[in-house]
Amino acid sequence: MENKDENSPEAAAVSTPGNFIRTIIDKDLAAGKNHGAVITRFPPEPNGYLHIGHAKSICLNFGLARDYAGAPGGSRCHLRFDDTNPVKEEQEYIDSIKENVRWLGFDWGEHEYYASDYFDRLFQWAVQLIRAGKAYVDDLSAEEIRSYRGTLTEPGKNSPFRDRSVEENLALFEAMKNGDFPDGAKVLRARIDMASPNLNLRDPVMYRILHASHHRTGDKWCIYPMYDFTHGQSDSLEGITHSICTLEFEDHRPLYDWFVEQLEIHHPQQIEFARLNINFTVMSKRRLLELVENGHVSGWDDPRLPTLAGLRRRGYTPVAIRNFCDRIGVSKKESCVDMGFLECCVREDLDRNAPRAMAVLNPLRVVIDNYPENRVEDFEAPLHPNDPAMGNRVVPFSRVLYIEREDFMEEPPKKFFRLAPGREVRLRCAYFIRCDEVVKDPGTGEIVELRCSYDPATRGGSAPDGRKVKGTLHWVSAAHALDAEIRLYDRLFVVPNPSADKEVDFKTHLNPESLQVLTGCKVEPGLADAAAESRFQFERQGYFCVDRIDSASDRLVFNRTATLRDSWAKLEDKD
Ligand code: ATP
Ligand code: MG
Repeated sequence: MENKDENSPEAAAVSTPGNFIRTIIDKDLAAGKNHGAVITRFPPEPNGYLHIGHAKSICLNFGLARDYAGAPGGSRCHLRFDDTNPVKEEQEYIDSIKENVRWLGFDWGEHEYYASDYFDRLFQWAVQLIRAGKAYVDDLSAEEIRSYRGTLTEPGKNSPFRDRSVEENLALFEAMKNGDFPDGAKVLRARIDMASPNLNLRDPVMYRILHASHHRTGDKWCIYPMYDFTHGQSDSLEGITHSICTLEFEDHRPLYDWFVEQLEIHHPQQIEFARLNINFTVMSKRRLLELVENGHVSGWDDPRLPTLAGLRRRGYTPVAIRNFCDRIGVSKKESCVDMGFLECCVREDLDRNAPRAMAVLNPLRVVIDNYPENRVEDFEAPLHPNDPAMGNRVVPFSRVLYIEREDFMEEPPKKFFRLAPGREVRLRCAYFIRCDEVVKDPGTGEIVELRCSYDPATRGGSAPDGRKVKGTLHWVSAAHALDAEIRLYDRLFVVPNPSADKEVDFKTHLNPESLQVLTGCKVEPGLADAAAESRFQFERQGYFCVDRIDSASDRLVFNRTATLRDSWAKLEDKD
């Protein structure tokens, strides 16, 4: 029993589990490194919206700053925009990133930085390296540079321009900066080792010419530092103690180290961890942008995307996402997390905290013939079955109701316990009703209405004579119900790894049924004033939220966040 408690969702929610990064930080603190400070950063490139993978990095970096608040030298986490590429970056992305990080529950205080603020400093450092004979201007084209680089098994070749004099390099670099050359005519390269087994050390490019306006520096620059010449020094300038990044940067670490050592500046410690992958989705900004630009989704905040804006619109809570990130843990080993686990985290949060309501997605009219024409009864129903503190709601009952079309079958198979001709069921917190007659459209044969009768003695949902019913249905009163549009979202892809085969366009695996829009749905009247983004469990249906963009008091729109149970798990078992 005890073990079970430790692994319970409650236990995981309140304490961030230990990981190898914390072990390193604890050791550093014990050794008195970094004057006892823990300073981390989250460094997005503002070229797209954040996704759930970024949330892992946000929770990790901001979580460390939060948990090491008691470190002798203090702790904090910076938000730094790595905005070195003027062509792909936009203010819209910066705004959305800030909004997303705040929404997740983290705060960078005054520590908002931009790599572009360091352009002057980086330029000076480049000049310093040229003076020291550690950097040179190269006239080779991008293609030539590539072919000179060699391969993993073959050393590279020196560029014919590698031995230019310091004076010539200084003059050329200055001329590059002054706009004397067209894009691509020259680059500045670090002078390291063309035979290094690490390709990143084979004279990497530090600066390129790009006559493009930058969203922050405007037309001040026509040369821009490469990411690899910017990232490590940005960390250094900000006094970052632990620079945490994903595994693909492991091979870049020796280069970052080389730069800070040559420049003799503060040396942050880089620690790599495995990026988050989730099945049935794609997580690279490039692919997400492709889906957005080609209209496969309605925008970056489409509820089917793994973007934070999309998950938010879908009804995910910050708590659910933080719990997810804490529980998947941090490791050095690449792995793929099951989408079902992310869904399970939101289900768990909403099961505990979302008030209950009744909504009929596919209405079927029910007339209770023996119920008085003009009577309305207000039934009290709990907002949460296990949390009386949440209180009750009032649900009006009258002669004409709607139930779910799929809760009735004219010829029910054996295990169907819901309504059928002659059969009695319970209407949630109201009465037992029996189906007496099925009314069909004479033209189409479609069932248009059920004529039923109720037993007044079963008020509240149980029979004084002890007779039992097998089914309990949700319902709404026709005269009182509100119309709503309900959007049923499902997974965006039908295969676990849409990007697995490089020869096949990942978009061919899109799920054609990922969005189903239902109109004419009927919800209980208490939802009239539901605020944007409020979340509910629609009884027997799943978790839904009020769409934060499209819903209005005269046009309610709900998004399905998650079904009540994992319907994909069953499907996968069958395969
Ligand atoms: P993508 O590959 O999706 O385009 P990126 O790595 O280029 O993402 P950045 O804006 O550079 O995006 O990422 C900011 C930070 O988020 C980086 O420190 C990066 O390591 C981290 N990050 C990005 N994707 C993931 C992921 N899937 N799991 C964990 N961390 C991630
Ligand atoms: Mg990146």
